[in-house]
Amino acid sequence: MTEGLSTRCVHAGELDDAHGSPHTPVYNTTTFRFSSTAELLDVVDGRKPGSLYTRYGLNPTIASLERKLAALEGAEAAWAFCSGMAAEAALFLTHGRRGIVCLGDAYGGTLELISAQLPLLGIPGHFLLGSELRKLDELLSQGAGLVFLETPTNPTLEIFDIHAIAKMAHAHGALLAVDNTFATPVNQNPLALGADCVVHSCTKYLGGHSDLTAGALMGAKELLAPVWNWRKNLGTTIAPEVAALLARSIRTLPVRVYRQNATAQAVAEAMVRHPRIRRVLHPGLPDFPGHALAKKQMVGPPRSQTPLAAPPGGAHASLGRPGEGMAGFGGMLTIEVNGTGEDATRVADRLKLFALAPSLGGVESLVTQPCTSTHHGLAPEERARRGISDAMLRLSIGLEDAADLIADLNQALE
Ligand SMILES: *Cc1c(COP(=O)(O)O)cnc(C)c1O
Repeated sequence: MTEGLSTRCVHAGELDDAHGSPHTPVYNTTTFRFSSTAELLDVVDGRKPGSLYTRYGLNPTIASLERKLAALEGAEAAWAFCSGMAAEAALFLTHGRRGIVCLGDAYGGTLELISAQLPLLGIPGHFLLGSELRKLDELLSQGAGLVFLETPTNPTLEIFDIHAIAKMAHAHGALLAVDNTFATPVNQNPLALGADCVVHSCTKYLGGHSDLTAGALMGAKELLAPVWNWRKNLGTTIAPEVAALLARSIRTLPVRVYRQNATAQAVAEAMVRHPRIRRVLHPGLPDFPGHALAKKQMVGPPRSQTPLAAPPGGAHASLGRPGEGMAGFGGMLTIEVNGTGEDATRVADRLKLFALAPSLGGVESLVTQPCTSTHHGLAPEERARRGISDAMLRLSIGLEDAADLIADLNQALE
């Protein structure tokens, strides 16, 4: 694969349509007819590719999206799901049955699935914070077969070393799966760094407009093949209409994320200087604990499988003004208000451009207070152990002008 990421986002996987449509049309079709039983059996038995039944994913719109999703992460294959959680559930049921080790903070649904629901099926779940990584070897030698992590994490933006953890997992014959939702394929390519599978909540940056719910799993064909039956029989395939909407959104993913990287950096730097802000967590800030690793892993990773288009002046040089056309540190940041949890709530409630809403990655900026939303269910001591203070606000930076977002934060902090 030699084409740059932006080119792949536009062209990869598109169906060569008989009517000349430049992109794959929506096949709002549940079943497909065959000219003979022999032809039907060729598809049913997997001898020939073809469309058959939409819940199987054997629908031209879904198959087209999956070729694009695979190309985004430099993967051999991808399956598209009706949500990010559906992708994770299918991954865990297929490859997590010997036990799952979840590193660091993860999405609330992921934590609940691994800690409360999969154990009902006899699937053990283990949790290690970044500070407890030395225990990973031991858990893996006891037989856990799947390591799962997010990087950057929610809401503290902790950075995990994908390459180093992949080596640890592989030394025990375990797999590493990375939830790449926060970073996006624009800023981070886990497979190129040694991970075995990537999951996405496409509901976030890949969809990018807060108007669809979808998920994806990418990886080697050999690893994805056994996942197919779980998706098929749990019935968690993406719908064709959503698949087409998601493919539409992916075509503009790099331009959106380049801009979100740059705006998040600008907002983070403005908040660092604000007297009412105690702390700003963003991987792009030079004194952020994970900055050096993020610089290596997100901004300048080995992109052998998924090269970014190399503009004149080097692989990661700017295409235009600073911050445009560059991989970066992502559009998420967390600010800690100089005050109490109630003070932070007041700031969240006073924001006008930032909408108070869960989710992230859309064109509109959003704010959440972890202690009243994503981490509300945790005991205060457990939040503290995870480094989450009540005065934190998590910001998802959209496509508004940086100056307007900073002005909105300034008025809310007054
Ligand atoms: C939202 C999210 C999920 C779950 O995705 P859904 O599409 O809502 O099912 C998983 N991981 C991360 C990091 C998320 O932000």
